[in-house]
Parts: sequence; C-alpha cells; structure tokens
Amino acid sequence: MKAVRITEFGAPEVMSYEETEIPSCEATEVLVKIEASGINYIDTYQRTGLYPVELPYTLGLEGAGTVEQVGEQVTDFSKGDRVAFCGVPGSYAEYTKVPEGRLVSLPDEVTTKEGAALMLQGMTVHYLTQSTYPIQRGDRCLIQAAAGGVGLLLIQIAKLMGAYVIGTVSTEEKAVLAKEAGADEVILYTQTDFEKETKRLTDGKGVNVVYDSVGKATFEKSINCLSPLGYMVLFGNASGPVTEFNPADLAQKGSLFLTRPSLFHYIADRESLEKRAGDVFRWVKEKNLKVRIEHLFPLAEVQEAHRSLEGRKTTGKVLLIP
Ligand code: NDP
Repeated sequence: MKAVRITEFGAPEVMSYEETEIPSCEATEVLVKIEASGINYIDTYQRTGLYPVELPYTLGLEGAGTVEQVGEQVTDFSKGDRVAFCGVPGSYAEYTKVPEGRLVSLPDEVTTKEGAALMLQGMTVHYLTQSTYPIQRGDRCLIQAAAGGVGLLLIQIAKLMGAYVIGTVSTEEKAVLAKEAGADEVILYTQTDFEKETKRLTDGKGVNVVYDSVGKATFEKSINCLSPLGYMVLFGNASGPVTEFNPADLAQKGSLFLTRPSLFHYIADRESLEKRAGDVFRWVKEKNLKVRIEHLFPLAEVQEAHRSLEGRKTTGKVLLIP
C-alpha cells in the first residue's frame, strides 16, 4: 500500500509518499481501508518536530473509510462497516489499524468524507464550547482564524449556543466565509488592530471568551480583549508557540482564566469519545453544523497540501484522498 512517512523533521519535502506493508491487526484492533484522511494543523507540528514523535513515523491523525478486517477479540465492528477515527497516527495511508476503542461508526446521514473532516475539528469545537468554556446565551466571543477548519465550525456552534461572535481572518474572501458561517462581525486582523476593534464592537466591555489558535502573533492582544473574569482559551500555535507569559498579568487584567487544552484529554475515555462524536454527528443531522470540505488533494500530493495549509491559502477542511 501507499503511505506518507517521515524519517526526519523539517519542511514539507521530508514527507515521502512510499510503498509499505499493509499493517496486520492485533486482537483488539481494526484494519480500516481509508477513503479520506483529514489534514490538521497538528500534522505540521509533528512534521516539523514542534510536537516530537518517534521516527520513522506515518503522519495523519484522522481518517474515515470501511472496515477491512477485525482482530479476533473485536466485537463492535465487522467488515464493510463505515467508520471514522482521530488521535491514532497513520491515517496518511491506504490502510491503517485502529484500536477498537478509538473507532466510531458513521451514521447514514454523515458521508465518509464528512466523517474524515469532522472527527478531529468537530470534536475540538465540541469540547471548546461545551467543556473548556461552556458558552452561555448572550456571551461575547472572539474566534481567531475564523475561516479555518476549526474556525468555521466554531462560529456555527458558538452561534447555536447563543453567543455574539466576532471572528478574525486575513483576507476579504475568508471574511465572506466567516460571515456565511454566522459570525456577527469579522475583523481583517492583517489590516485592522483586532484589539481596538473588538473593544469598539463590544462598547468597551470586551469578550467573555477568546478562542485563540494562532498563538504567538495574537496571544497578548487576545488577552487584552477579555472582560474581567474572561477565559483565554489558547488551543494552537499556527503562528508559533507562546513561550513567555507572566501569570500575574491575569490578575492585573481582570482575574482572567488561561487554559491551553488539547482534544486528546477530552476524548481520553470511550464515553467522552462517543458522547462528543455523537453530538457532532447529531448537529450535522439536525443541520446545525455544516462542514465545508474546501480542498481535496490526492495522497501523493501531500507536500502541496501542507504548503497550502501553512501558507494560509486554505479555508475550511483539507482532505487527502488515497
Ligand atoms: P486552519 O485551517 O485554521 O489553518 C490555520 C489558520 O491560522 C490559517 O488559515 C490562518 O488563517 C491562521 N494563521 C494566522 N497566522 C498564521 C501563520 N503565521 N501561519 C499560518 N497560519 C496562520 O487549521 P486547523 O483548523 O487545522 O487548526 C486551527 C488551529 O487549531 C491550529 O493552531 C491547531 O493546532 C489548533 N487545534 C488545536 C486543537 C486542540 O485540541 N488544542 C485541536 C485542533 C486544532 P488566516 O489566514 O485567516 O489568518
């Protein structure tokens, strides 16, 4: 089978599309024939070594497809089932093995491509809005990189929960998408000071929560956008990691809360995984959540896909097709 592997950390060129063995599954594992792999920003962190992994490594933490084979102790899945997963490495491939406990069935209303697009970013939006900072009706909320994969989903769910939503994006085209997803206001943070504009849009009050996945470039100003007792949810590093911060600033700026969450702790047990995936699929069925699959790349063109994502050229979800 074909798979995308790295043997060293670095630029997109370190990813090699190569022939390798189809994995054989252990007793509690399921072999999945992948129809679509989700690309996520975390894949670029693993590729560059920002989040170190053991080498050689087959990239990709999200995928969907059909069950090809099951280990002898697997009880909940059988050959031909439509399934999806995230958080298990190896999805940039034609086949991968997934522990039974990490796999979910796809309901009829969710296509396989939607499954591959929603597992990681959809459940991220679920935990950010339902658990990390449970949004209350009437909350004011700032979402950075609002036209990205996570961003467009986050706007829709923040609106569903009754928030007033301000999004930031880099271009006019991205602003249109963020508006279409439901954002009340969109700031072009490449042209306008988003801190001043957020204060203006909220009559000086600031927002109750900032969901910031841009990191280094926005962190400080994001904190300044918060109302007293507000929540700074820093959940990514698209512009680089935040490395310096003085906790005393939280007191001085209004007894703020700061958290740096990761999806994988919020779906660590089977119950949370099923609950979050189930809710995301229900949102899709009830037409409260629409995933924009904007970019499909053949698996062999993975380098180009990463360049587009890191070059801020993509919007919505990016999928690889084996
Ligand atoms: P996106 O589709 O959102 O792509 C990243 C976006 O970040 C770009 O499109 C760009 O939007 C913006 N950006 C701002 N500055 C830069 C920069 N210097 N370089 C590149 N991009 C920049 O990616 P994802 O939806 O996959 O992920 C979004 C973020 O969420 C990532 O930081 C990711 O790590 C994080 N994440 C965290 C999770 C967690 O549990 N902690 C889980 C899932 C995702 P624009 O052009 O509009 O500025």
